[in-house]
Amino acid sequence: MFDYLIVGAGFAGSVLAERLASIEGKKILLIDKRNHIGGNAYDCYNNEGILIHKYGPHIFHTNSKEVFQYLSKFTEWRNYQHKVLACVDGLQVPIPINLNTINSLYGLNLSSAEVEGFLAARAEEITQVKTSEDVVLKAVGRELYEKFFKGYTKKQWDLDPAELDASVTARVPTRINKDDRYFTDTYQAMPLHGFTKMFEKMLDHPNIKILLNTDYHEIINEIQYAKMIFTGPVDEYFDYCYGKLPYRSLQFKFETLDQEQFQQTGTINYPNDYAFTRITEFKYLTGQKHTKTSLVYEFPKAEGDPYYPIPRPENAELYKKYQELTHQTNAYFVGRLATYKYYNMDQVVAQALSTFKKIQAETNPISDENKITV
Ligand SMILES: Cc1cc2nc3c(=O)[nH]c(=O)nc-3n(C[C@H](O)[C@H](O)[C@H](O)COP(=O)(O)OP(=O)(O)OC[C@H]3O[C@@H](n4cnc5c(N)ncnc54)[C@H](O)[C@@H]3O)c2cc1C
Repeated sequence: MFDYLIVGAGFAGSVLAERLASIEGKKILLIDKRNHIGGNAYDCYNNEGILIHKYGPHIFHTNSKEVFQYLSKFTEWRNYQHKVLACVDGLQVPIPINLNTINSLYGLNLSSAEVEGFLAARAEEITQVKTSEDVVLKAVGRELYEKFFKGYTKKQWDLDPAELDASVTARVPTRINKDDRYFTDTYQAMPLHGFTKMFEKMLDHPNIKILLNTDYHEIINEIQYAKMIFTGPVDEYFDYCYGKLPYRSLQFKFETLDQEQFQQTGTINYPNDYAFTRITEFKYLTGQKHTKTSLVYEFPKAEGDPYYPIPRPENAELYKKYQELTHQTNAYFVGRLATYKYYNMDQVVAQALSTFKKIQAETNPISDENKITV
């Protein structure tokens, strides 16, 4: 008899397994249909001994001290500030667009104040920002929108930015200084020995049993448990009764080259050329020293593993219908797939930690004699 059956051993399921086992002494069965823990953040060594991310490049960054301190119980860190270049007009220039991007692209030597005027002169007046296209046109105008965003977004989502929620391109800011970091969060670091090692340490507890290669449908009637925590796709849980929630998927092409370095920085985006969106060279992310180097190319596609919930109003409406059904179960729905949200790793950890606090409050209500009355 388990106290909790947790479906999915990614960040959402693993954080909850760890907290419930080590703080509340609960007995946990953690299952995953894949043959490994870590969910999409899983990393492993390839045949050449280079650490790669099986489901595409994962870079940790957060502004949350609580999340960073929590994960620090299970790993040491290596400082890493991710940098991305975009291949545009035959040049490789920083993205997010910054002062250097504009100066390189237009052969100028503008100051921060001047570049602000340069962008303001091109920005379009948009009173109601609704779509991803509106966000960019309002910030930098049509020419830069077409060079950096239109093609990339079309490849990534197979949708025109005008058909996507503003939230997608709002993730990529514009800067008038020379800051060429992709993220500006307070904490930017990679687990020193990789994500999988961090998950192994998190789940190393006698109360946590792990069952891999197992879809929850296979065992749901075979085992006894008091409560379920579900981190898989919410529409799958309800047998797609309202139809499938749309996801964008990716195909990864891995390549190892017999040379120490391939490109100038961790990731290079290709907004306008090729079928892939970007190339990432893992050694930048992991800091590994090796005579060879491994890369991953990302090819967006419609079918395949569900990676990105597609942020459009009609999909949010469909999700709401499933969310209503979750209230009629006594399961907890946590994580990217179960809440149909475009969350980063730190946001999923934060969501799992707050679900843990909610469970604690529900299962250990303050007894009347301990309540403080004012
Ligand atoms: C290409 C890509 C790049 C990303 N890059 C970054 C990044 O740089 N930085 C960042 O912060 N975030 C990044 N993310 C987001 C990050 O992957 C997620 O926020 C995080 O992994 C979500 O954790 P999760 O536990 O919610 O889901 P997942 O990691 O998806 O875990 C869910 C688990 O549930 C299992 N499961 C599903 N259905 C079943 C079933 N029926 N039975 C049993 N098990 C089941 C799955 O196998 C999976 O292992 C990226 C995502 C992608 C796709």
